[in-house]
Amino acid sequence: MREPGTRKPSFTKMTTLTFQSPWMNDELGIFRKTVRQFIQEKFTPHYDRWCQQHRPDPEAWKEAGATGILLSGLPEQYGGGGTFANEAVVIEELAQAGIQFGSIVHSIVAHYIHAYGNEEQKRKWLPRMALGEMVGAIAMTEPSAGSDLQGMKTTARREGDHYVINGSKTFITNGWHASLICLAVKTDPMASGVKGMSLLMVEGKDLPGYRVGRSLEKVGMHSVDTCELFFDGVRVPASNLLGPAEGRGFYQMMDQLPYERVSIGVAAVASAERAVAITTKYVKERMAFGKPLIDFQNTRFKLAECKTETHIARVFLDDCIQQLIAGKLNLVTAAMAKYWLTDCQCRVIDECVQLHGGNGYMTEFPIGRMWADSRVQRIYGGTNEIMKELIGSSL
Ligand SMILES: Cc1cc2nc3c(=O)[nH]c(=O)nc-3n(C[C@H](O)[C@H](O)[C@H](O)COP(=O)(O)OP(=O)(O)OC[C@H]3O[C@@H](n4cnc5c(N)ncnc54)[C@H](O)[C@@H]3O)c2cc1C
Repeated sequence: MREPGTRKPSFTKMTTLTFQSPWMNDELGIFRKTVRQFIQEKFTPHYDRWCQQHRPDPEAWKEAGATGILLSGLPEQYGGGGTFANEAVVIEELAQAGIQFGSIVHSIVAHYIHAYGNEEQKRKWLPRMALGEMVGAIAMTEPSAGSDLQGMKTTARREGDHYVINGSKTFITNGWHASLICLAVKTDPMASGVKGMSLLMVEGKDLPGYRVGRSLEKVGMHSVDTCELFFDGVRVPASNLLGPAEGRGFYQMMDQLPYERVSIGVAAVASAERAVAITTKYVKERMAFGKPLIDFQNTRFKLAECKTETHIARVFLDDCIQQLIAGKLNLVTAAMAKYWLTDCQCRVIDECVQLHGGNGYMTEFPIGRMWADSRVQRIYGGTNEIMKELIGSSL
């Protein structure tokens, strides 16, 4: 019999495994199983090699496309058939498997085309992207313009039926694989502020004057090709402009940000959940001073904090996902999600590294890799400081 005061409370035991997001349903459950099996069979066995070569194999994109994993949230006629919930499932499963793959960026490009492209552009590019025959990249950042996109120098000058592009971009995800780049350019360099900015689709890898630099050496995310791109008099058809007129680029980007930021949030929460799960297992197995680490109160308290924060993150994220699907998510809430969920991810993973001791710093332990992979989440997609500026400006 238990001592008074040590009786186990009789409330339902809730774990992240039993928690069901309100946007999940049976159909998505079947989709999740397919995605999980695909990742286990087609991605995981090759992952170490991808990290060494700094990019996934080209076949990985086509296999993912054939399995229906790419652009699953687009309408059926463009190769999708689901909603953002399908995309969230894919992002979660990749995070749960510890796989970094540029499919979020690929989807962001597709959503730009879907939102601003004309019917001809949509039919030309989206089905091929859904099949993984074309890989998308989004190129905004330049060596001297990241947070402050107004400092952008890449230009696209109209010459008859073409634009002629000059400039360079850096830190571009999927840069090596990309055959369709959504490129932020200045079509009117004389216009003040963001008014002269446009989005131009650059199709093909072999265009004269176009060059991809080497894959950049990163702290983490080794399996993703992150490159510099160079444009020296590159000619693209004028019909590749996104939207009916020049000068809309900045506003188009602003409009799509909630989608991009929630996608980053999905990866953040799934990754924090994975960190808590693998660390819980680890501290039950690892012994110190004659007992498992979990028997130390500090271990239980730290994991209790991590689990609580992760659960709060999950509930907030699920609300954002539902609002996004309903077309109601505003820019400020999306900025809150991006900032808070990625900060939470990094806090939780850092604590989990600590609970692993020296093993936590080794890349052969998943938590070590997760720590290196997660850090950039607070930087790309708009830094978390810029998110706070945005939230602050709404006060
Ligand atoms: C792995 C990786 C992948 C990426 N993928 C892509 C991609 O696919 N496409 C793409 O276009 N870009 C990509 N980026 C670039 C990324 O979006 C930028 O790095 C990011 O926007 C920050 O810009 P920056 O690096 O120029 O930093 P800076 O703008 O120089 O910022 C430096 C610091 O100053 C702070 N700061 C700047 N302005 C303010 C302000 N107003 N108030 C307070 N603080 C401020 C920032 O928050 C940051 O802490 C990627 C970056 C990385 C590392």
